[in-house]
Amino acid sequence: MLDLNHPDTPITFAVAAEHGKVLHYAKRMTLVSTQDRQRLLDEALNACAAIRDITKQRWGNAKNKIKSVELLETNLRELASTQSTNDYADSWEGCNCDVCDSPIEDLPGYPDMVYCRTCIAAVRPGLDAVDRSYGLWCI
Ligand SMILES: [Zn+2]
Repeated sequence: MLDLNHPDTPITFAVAAEHGKVLHYAKRMTLVSTQDRQRLLDEALNACAAIRDITKQRWGNAKNKIKSVELLETNLRELASTQSTNDYADSWEGCNCDVCDSPIEDLPGYPDMVYCRTCIAAVRPGLDAVDRSYGLWCI
């Protein structure tokens, strides 16, 4: 259970916010072309840099935490470099991903729930590693 008085709690929320940004940018990456993924990659890597800064300030060189961020950065670069001609940032109804041919997911009423479920799996190991190493699951 989350202890709101624990000194790590505000920092854990800050990491969770950056983790959420990374997931947002990764979802968007699955909808666009390889070229357009680069800008989103930069934004996602900025969020990873923020997690690194938070880590350094609070935990120094905590190896397991830094390694999880490195894995996430590697996963993000892999997703960004995948050859894609997707152009579904604004319109995706009935469309399949050009990369893997899976249907583009769309959860009505949730604007951030549009993505390719198959392609997003590329960043799942890094997202899960950060989740575990920073204890984000307790939020
Ligand atoms: Zn896909």
